[in-house]
Amino acid sequence: MKDIAGLFGSMVFNNTVMQARLPEDIYKALKKTMSQGTHLELDIANVVANAMKDWAIEKGATHFTHWFQPMTGITAEKHDSFICPTKDGKILMEFSGKVLVRGEPDASSFPSGGLRATFEARGYTVWDITSYAFIKNGTLCIPTAFCSYGGEALDKKTPLLRSMESINIQALRVLRLFGNTSASQVISNVGPEQEYFLIDKEMYLKRPDLIYTGRTLFGAKPPKGQELEDHYFGALKPRVSAFMKELEEELWKLGVFAKTKHNEVAPGQHELAPIFTTTNISTDHNQLTMELMKSIADKHGMVCLLHEKPFEGVNGSGKHNNWSIGTDSGINLLEPGETPSENAQFLLFLTAVIKAVDDYQDLLRVCAASAGNDHRLGANEAPPAIVSMFLGDDLTEVLEAVGSGGNYKDRKKNQMKIGVSVLPHFPKDTTDRNRTSPFAFTGNKFEFRMLGSAFSVAGPNIILNTAVAEVLRQFADTLENSKDFKKDLAALIKKSYSEHKRIVFNGNNYSDEWVKEAAKRGLSNLKTTVDALPAFISEKSINLFTTQNVFSKAELHSRYEILLEGYSKTLNIEALTMIDMVKREIIPACIAWQNDLTKLLERKKTLAKYNSSLEEYLLERTSQLSAELLKELDTLNNALLKAKKEKDVLAIARKYNKDVFGSMTALRHSVDELETLVAKKYWPFPSYAKILHSVI
Ligand code: ADP
Ligand code: MG
Repeated sequence: MKDIAGLFGSMVFNNTVMQARLPEDIYKALKKTMSQGTHLELDIANVVANAMKDWAIEKGATHFTHWFQPMTGITAEKHDSFICPTKDGKILMEFSGKVLVRGEPDASSFPSGGLRATFEARGYTVWDITSYAFIKNGTLCIPTAFCSYGGEALDKKTPLLRSMESINIQALRVLRLFGNTSASQVISNVGPEQEYFLIDKEMYLKRPDLIYTGRTLFGAKPPKGQELEDHYFGALKPRVSAFMKELEEELWKLGVFAKTKHNEVAPGQHELAPIFTTTNISTDHNQLTMELMKSIADKHGMVCLLHEKPFEGVNGSGKHNNWSIGTDSGINLLEPGETPSENAQFLLFLTAVIKAVDDYQDLLRVCAASAGNDHRLGANEAPPAIVSMFLGDDLTEVLEAVGSGGNYKDRKKNQMKIGVSVLPHFPKDTTDRNRTSPFAFTGNKFEFRMLGSAFSVAGPNIILNTAVAEVLRQFADTLENSKDFKKDLAALIKKSYSEHKRIVFNGNNYSDEWVKEAAKRGLSNLKTTVDALPAFISEKSINLFTTQNVFSKAELHSRYEILLEGYSKTLNIEALTMIDMVKREIIPACIAWQNDLTKLLERKKTLAKYNSSLEEYLLERTSQLSAELLKELDTLNNALLKAKKEKDVLAIARKYNKDVFGSMTALRHSVDELETLVAKKYWPFPSYAKILHSVI
């Protein structure tokens, strides 16, 4: 039996290690900086760096890196070894406080959205003391924030940390109003559920589309897809099981609370969920999880696909962001609780989230927008592009009763009067299971389900924390000036709920009726990334983020540009890959197939007694579709040329969204039909059926 408890966190420079290895005064100073954000003196950093280095070397590390999360969506690292030459030609292993605290990677090749001119291409990585250092592949990794010379954020961590600070400040103001003097911090927590596909590496290497774009650009429907629903929660195949076991152990070593694993709906699809933790750490851990999924799959002769929609007609992969806020003493502010005063406090926080989601629905849509996720949102497997909230019948009834000043009957049919200080208990477990809702209250947390599997969870949590912080700020402003707290509190909950209840929808979000109903309610329905992104630089967004000190206007604009450019670049790569696959592999296959058919037909003509209608049909349809390919390639090439002629990032992205993507779809259509006609031995790529069932 492995000692799992001993394994857990063994590669992390965590609290236990710090306490054991640092002199007491240094440990205390470091803890103070971690919890209160106080300045860390260089002499203290020097001692910490030295202890870290000794610990890392004992664990076999030779290098260190500042580990950061630029706007590429993945993590970045540049390794330096600890070696330092001495005068006598030997080496010392060195690591100073200065190097621990700050790094200066050449930042010119990371996306900055125009924030950083190349002549001042320096970027700085700054130690994030709140996330522990760890060892990965013999390298001591120091989690860092990444910013420009002028202090602008060039990464996902900086604004996330800022948003956590905002919600901390505003939520504490509200808590104080309820007489809570003991909490010193309010923390946002996240548990991200991660979906992914595993396929055999041999199949992967035969598909240029998977290699270059992460998804299949062609592929006829397989005879067996997910229709039998026999994969969901099914027994794990030995290869998958071995992969998951190794993944879990590696994650545990890194202190990641990997907890749940199971097969998902589609063949080859799986899910991993960790136990929730502080948003910042959870974000770091989710990045590590995705990275390890890829590297460990490779060791097992498989490839892990994190793309949102690797296969058309088969469920794609998402990520569920389970979010809550709680105090440093462990009280969950979204827990309905049992005592009346807690209920009132809970209702105020709940109403704050309702108002935040309604006020900033467009921004929540923005943070789920990407070229990959456009294939999912609104399809039958994922929530629509319309943001709405599920509260469950009980909670909705409670709020309705508060809104109308009426009574709420609880489950035991007791008549209870709804003052804010006297509220019924609501049974917790009646809240869940509306799987179609993009934003569902699930007992004591909210589950935001619109994200794509490849996303960093930094984005949605920056937006959630900031939007809720802003509403809490408004609530605190109102209530701090109140002469009659109970009365004003009741009035505030009532008013906020009444004004924002249009966002609450407990029905089936996948239905057509909801789309109509949502339009009537005035909710936005931003169908694609290109429709959604402009909201990011709207006046409302700028006001929100600058008021809460999370993004400056320049930072917002830079991110908007990076996201739009990323969208267009993704489609450009996909289009070019398609063109290449069609020209160099699919057309030659069709020609060879037609050649065979033609020869056979000629032979049959000489032997008049044979019926040749099948060959004639195949030849005719194949040659028709082949001719269409030619036209479609031409249309796609023209669409690409036109898109490139546009000047503005939004106009370019719009062209990719409509014309380029439209032509890609038409081309795919013809190719997919050809795949069903051309003999298997000529078809250059493994079929969907083969790929999806490749791991046995
Ligand atoms: P399901 O698939 O039913 O949605 P899972 O157990 O797979 O549920 O995932 C639920 C996720 O929510 C886990 O990561 C869990 O740790 C997380 N979670 C549970 N309670 C909270 C909370 N209070 N705040 C944030 N996340 C939470
Ligand atoms: Mg879930």
